[in-house]
Amino acid sequence: MTLAPDLAAPIAGWRVWNVTDRGRGPELVSPVRPVAWPHRVPTTAVCAGGCRPCPAPECRCGLYATAGVGLAALSHHTGATVLGCAALWGRVVEHTDGWRGEHGYPLVLFVLPVVPGAVELRIRRLRRRRSAALGADELGPRDFGSTETLSRELARLYAVPVHPAAAMPDARFADRGRLAGRADALRAEAAAGVAGRRSGDPLAVDRLARRVQDLLDAIGR
Ligand SMILES: [Zn+2]
Repeated sequence: MTLAPDLAAPIAGWRVWNVTDRGRGPELVSPVRPVAWPHRVPTTAVCAGGCRPCPAPECRCGLYATAGVGLAALSHHTGATVLGCAALWGRVVEHTDGWRGEHGYPLVLFVLPVVPGAVELRIRRLRRRRSAALGADELGPRDFGSTETLSRELARLYAVPVHPAAAMPDARFADRGRLAGRADALRAEAAAGVAGRRSGDPLAVDRLARRVQDLLDAIGR
């Protein structure tokens, strides 16, 4: 099995993705710009305005991730399909609540449930617009059968742990209390244990799995 790329001392942050399939199986895409995160190789930021190096402090370019899960959870209104921790490395611009990085790769992912009725129409419109920009259809868990099937496929293709989640962390509460503590612990372990997991250390794999379970319990699996 090909391993996920080697990541030296990355920063880990929360972010969301959508999913497409351009013939190579499910692929993560940014909900903001039509950028796909490829399987097994780092994603490298490219500035639409031509910044070099990218990200530039005065620009808005780069791959985004946030320190608290709450900010990422807010993105649920864009119809995100996947929430997770991503490693950012290379050139990284720090902000008060997160980072913009040069290179990125997912560390651990959660496939989110299908959003209910009222919100869905608006999200469908957003998806159509993003699909046009991406040149490929944006897909939801149902297109792959179920959240479980999509989770398994993403895990296989990205070689990182992927879990179905029954709910999105509530953005209003996600950065306070019990949930915030568990999200922070997961984010810290996702970064600290990356070398161990990559070399197949079962203790490192287990440590992250326990953090994942703690978070899933807190968001009401
Ligand atoms: Zn730029």
